[in-house]
Amino acid sequence: MHVSRTSAPVAGSGIVVVGAGLAGPVAAMYLARRFGRVTVLERRGDPRHLPAGQGRSLMVILSERGWRVLRELGLEEAVRRICVPLAARCGHLPDGSTVVTPYSRDGAPIWAVERYRLHCLLLDAAEAEPGVRLHFERPVRAVDPEEPKLLVGAGTSERWIPCRHVLGCDGVHSAVRAALVARGARERVSTLELAYQEIVLDLPSCDRGLMHYWPAGDALFGAFPLASSPRFAGSVFFRREGPRPSYAAAVDGPALARQFAETFPGLAAGIPDLREQLATKPVSAVRLTRCDRWVLGGTAALVGDSCHAMAPFMGQGMNCAFEDVRTLVSCLDREQDWERAFTAYERIRRRDADAITDISYQHYRTMSRLPDPRHEAEEAVARRLVALMPHRFVPLYERCAFSEESYSSALAEERRLRALARRILSRHGPAADLPDAHLRACVTQEENAGRAS
Ligand SMILES: Cc1cc2nc3c(=O)[nH]c(=O)nc-3n(C[C@H](O)[C@H](O)[C@H](O)COP(=O)(O)OP(=O)(O)OC[C@H]3O[C@@H](n4cnc5c(N)ncnc54)[C@H](O)[C@@H]3O)c2cc1C
Repeated sequence: MHVSRTSAPVAGSGIVVVGAGLAGPVAAMYLARRFGRVTVLERRGDPRHLPAGQGRSLMVILSERGWRVLRELGLEEAVRRICVPLAARCGHLPDGSTVVTPYSRDGAPIWAVERYRLHCLLLDAAEAEPGVRLHFERPVRAVDPEEPKLLVGAGTSERWIPCRHVLGCDGVHSAVRAALVARGARERVSTLELAYQEIVLDLPSCDRGLMHYWPAGDALFGAFPLASSPRFAGSVFFRREGPRPSYAAAVDGPALARQFAETFPGLAAGIPDLREQLATKPVSAVRLTRCDRWVLGGTAALVGDSCHAMAPFMGQGMNCAFEDVRTLVSCLDREQDWERAFTAYERIRRRDADAITDISYQHYRTMSRLPDPRHEAEEAVARRLVALMPHRFVPLYERCAFSEESYSSALAEERRLRALARRILSRHGPAADLPDAHLRACVTQEENAGRAS
């Protein structure tokens, strides 16, 4: 039975975590193990009390960084039980062909999990953690980091609560970030051109060990096998504005279903309730955020989407948020002083968050566009290099999802590889025609030239 403490009065507490999404419960568990009492304030109701079947079907991918955190918290086994391992992505191209891209070179899978089930599991674990108090339906309306205190609740229940440290795990519309912005931090909030809807469907001919996607220029459909049923959890991405296909051009359910059928002709027939799903499920925007300050003294710090919401297609937003928490806690362990620890956290982490935000945006552009011969040729050279010198060149996805290499180092290495591939392509032509020994010699030659210039 889930017992959430929605009705208990919120007492002032040393550490307050704002937001009980994915990062909030994780942060609360780490902090409670070190500092005792942690209060978590969430503006929404407890998702564990939703009637069966009303949780959303969105899937999220857990990669190495996420697993590290779950392992440290003792949750790895429980989470694995609700995950599906996926060996590769399978792209279904408009000409009917398919392209399978393994997630890793050694066949290691990534793990997909229903966000809703993971969220409930994390809330259960946080609630079972001695010291953690979860409070739902407690919106934080303002943060005064000087005092420090938080304005919590609404109407007659609104009141100021004193605290010592506030962690903003409150996502893209963060109230904690707003307090930093009011004190001079600069934020950038934007919305991806694509919005999405979740669609549950049967894909009997699709391999359940793969993630499937259908690129269609300005639209994309992606589907993951569900662990809890033989069906797939899909998401359709259309542009928000502009000519068809877009949400603006297809104003209602029937028009949207027609647009879906035109854009993804092979899929619509397998979704008998397509029109109903498109008419009733929410259209969600994807927000992107950046902020040039994440901390204020030793009082307030931002974590996760509150400071770096990113395009979702690399599957790193939550993994990065979990790694933020680990980094913050290791700074606290090292420094023993909150202000110094917060400063170190921002210095270490902001560069990496900027890098994965850039990587994710670039990946979104790559996945959504149709094959382009120039890009394909460069990609082919990069793939040859990676295959030929596996210890020297590691694919970007692998660096992000299967290692804990810093995101900024992964991005720098990828830029080096791409620049090399471009130079080889322009001077020596497509790599497919080059024998291995010749390609190795090209790499040495290009790298020497790069060093000399
Ligand atoms: C389509 C899609 C697919 C994705 N796929 C992946 C994936 O495969 N892998 C991956 O790693 N990431 C993925 N992500 C990203 C991931 O969902 C986010 O990065 C992650 O949820 C961030 O966690 P968070 O706790 O920072 O924010 P959230 O999970 O958004 O939680 C914020 C919480 O704060 C609460 N809140 C907000 N304001 C207040 C307030 N004023 N007072 C109190 N509470 C407040 C909110 O109600 C919410 O519960 C995906 C995102 C999208 C949109």
